[in-house]
Amino acid sequence: MDILSIIVPCYNEEEMLPITFESLRNKLSDLISKGKISPDSFLLFVDDGSKDKTWELIENENKIHKEVRGLKLAGNVGHQFALTAGLNFAKDICDMSISIDADLQDDIEVFDEMVDLYHEGNDIVYGVRNKRKTDTFFKRFTAQSFYKLMNFFGAKTIYNHADFRLMSKRALEQFYKYKEENLYIRGIVPLIGYKTACVYYDRKVRVAGESKYPLKKMLALAIEGITSFSVKPIRYIILLGVISVFLSMAALIYALISFIFLTVEPGWTSLIVSIWFLGGVQLISIGLIGEYIGKIYMEVKGRPRYNIDKYIE
Ligand code: UDP
Ligand code: MG
Repeated sequence: MDILSIIVPCYNEEEMLPITFESLRNKLSDLISKGKISPDSFLLFVDDGSKDKTWELIENENKIHKEVRGLKLAGNVGHQFALTAGLNFAKDICDMSISIDADLQDDIEVFDEMVDLYHEGNDIVYGVRNKRKTDTFFKRFTAQSFYKLMNFFGAKTIYNHADFRLMSKRALEQFYKYKEENLYIRGIVPLIGYKTACVYYDRKVRVAGESKYPLKKMLALAIEGITSFSVKPIRYIILLGVISVFLSMAALIYALISFIFLTVEPGWTSLIVSIWFLGGVQLISIGLIGEYIGKIYMEVKGRPRYNIDKYIE
């Protein structure tokens, strides 16, 4: 039977963990007793350099319950890297993994459906939020603008899906090949390209502790998401340059008409035209250089270029 690992990144979660341990352990034994997963399935808590008692709690829980495992990172590296550490670590010792935040805002009751979909041959199952009525208006607004912006700039992401998902062993192995330093997991997973499915759930409020994602970190994630996936912002510079050059043509006509029919300061005509023209040329040049830098950037990421799904002979 297939071993499931549940991966939980934790940063200063001492208030939340006692609840999380219990809920996840119960859910795990529920799935085991239903015969959906192997009795060797386990929970993997990744301590992302917490400053509170998070690691002590994980250690204690591990002493009492054999299905609870811990991975302690040497310092705080942030949610995306902590989760990656867990996923990469688990890939060799499980058949599938589910990643979920420690605050259990995502519904653990959909684990059943995720595992069923895995058995039906899906390699990736996305947890997708139905509505966001429990989030504050501010969080909802910023999150929604974020998805829109991301799509506008060309990073394909699943709408209303955060890092709550099931991944099969081979999906984990492929994910492992994305060694990029500028990491945005939500953008990478769709690139893996195996058969995928979605499960829908309502997101709950955080019951204990506070959000570790203040606006500052959210903005950082948004910028990371855009700049690590697309060179579109650079393209817009070129576009801006082209528009300026066209405007300089218009300025030329306007200036010539003024020069002929109105009295203007000497030199004004040539100045106004050159400002627009040169500005446009400069923007195009910067954009062109940017294009090459963008290419270098994508090149140094060293991403796998394809992923084989099946081989028959
Ligand atoms: N987290 C982490 N490292 C960090 C910040 C957060 O591992 O530097 C974890 C945190 O413990 C939680 C998850 O990432 O399990 C998501 O954080 P949070 O729930 O605070 O974010 P929100 O739901 O408010 O976006
Ligand atoms: Mg949360």
